[in-house]
Amino acid sequence: MTLDYNSLLMALAVSATCLAVTLLGSWFARRTETFLLTGTLGLVLIVSGILAYSLYVDHPVTAFAVVSFVLFHSGFAALWGGGSQFLTGRLPRRATVACAATAMIVSIPPLLIGYDGLAFIAQNTAIAAMLFGTAYQYWRARAEAPVPLTGITALYCLTAISFVLCAGVLIADGKMVLGVAPSNWAEDLSIAVCIASMTGIGALSLALHQWRLAARHRLDAITDPLTGLLNRRALFDRYGKGTMGPGTAVLVFDLDHFKSINDTFGHASGDRVLKVFAAELSANCRAGDTAARLGGEEFALVLKETVPGRAEKVAERIRKAFAGREIYLEGESRRCTVSVGVAPGRSTPMELDTMLSSADKALYTAKRAGRNRIELAGHLHAVPVGAARTGS
Ligand code: GH3
Ligand code: MG
Ligand code: MG
Repeated sequence: MTLDYNSLLMALAVSATCLAVTLLGSWFARRTETFLLTGTLGLVLIVSGILAYSLYVDHPVTAFAVVSFVLFHSGFAALWGGGSQFLTGRLPRRATVACAATAMIVSIPPLLIGYDGLAFIAQNTAIAAMLFGTAYQYWRARAEAPVPLTGITALYCLTAISFVLCAGVLIADGKMVLGVAPSNWAEDLSIAVCIASMTGIGALSLALHQWRLAARHRLDAITDPLTGLLNRRALFDRYGKGTMGPGTAVLVFDLDHFKSINDTFGHASGDRVLKVFAAELSANCRAGDTAARLGGEEFALVLKETVPGRAEKVAERIRKAFAGREIYLEGESRRCTVSVGVAPGRSTPMELDTMLSSADKALYTAKRAGRNRIELAGHLHAVPVGAARTGS
């Protein structure tokens, strides 16, 4: 029986090692996902704990049990920390250490004074609590990738329940002093459940990792890396097919004399100005609006369901706010300006292309009229070229 139990333990150690290798491999593929590294560390500690515990099964010397408790509690606390890190992006170091320390404080002293039965009850309960805690972290994050995350949650819960059963059987037996490693049906079942869960969690972690990578790539493909705004392709993906709804306005922005900023202060300073402008654009977006960088120092803003006059107001607000900003370039304070072409919302739906070129024409007029101003596309025919409606 002892031999059988130890074989089960070795099988568990092997499956945990496989999971550790899986997580480490995934981390190599994407180094920023450090929660994978925390998980690997947790598993290495747990595998070491299993080895120490298997020594205890053969030679029930208190020291082996203490070592295995320390390793298990550190390992399961690390798994919890990794779960939290997955959710929030940072490892809660103090809480993780506190978790491990609490588990050790409730389980190791009884072991040292000879109440090993009590110690194993406390140990199983503490591990179950940490596993439920880990499950909860993944559950909270489930919106990101519902299928793998719900699966991971379920498997952590299942494992936690198997530890609850181990504690329950020991409590039912009522023996505070065992003298040997506990051996009952719940222990055997728990190992079987752990082996199955480890395998499942390993597979789901890989799926989760792929899910995150794919989502990341999708995001990269539609994002302008410098400003974080949508790129031209994303704008056309969103509005390029079919016509834009009635009332949709399109604003096109082009920074004034931007080339001279680059020439005077260097390309990096130019990039800083682009970021400042992008932030100004985002700050003036409402839910449903879309800001995008069309390329270079040209940006677009799509406003949905605008009431008459809103597009010009938004354009003017952005123009004014940007012109009022002091930007420090190479230790020198500078003000930059922007010209805006506005294609206001119309009652007849139009294509994005048409709206953009109409806004572009207005922008060209604004440039010719002296820059740092907005021009309305609808007035292109009514107002003589060069007579800007709004200016500085
Ligand atoms: P105007 O007032 O007529 O718009 O003059 P301008 O100098 O802004 O116009 P132009 O289109 O000639 O200059 C755009 C410059 O933007 C040229 C190009 O070097 C620069 N540029 C394009 N993309 C980037 C970028 O990503 N970063 C930086 N720093 N400069 C860029
Ligand atoms: Mg330009
Ligand atoms: Mg320009």
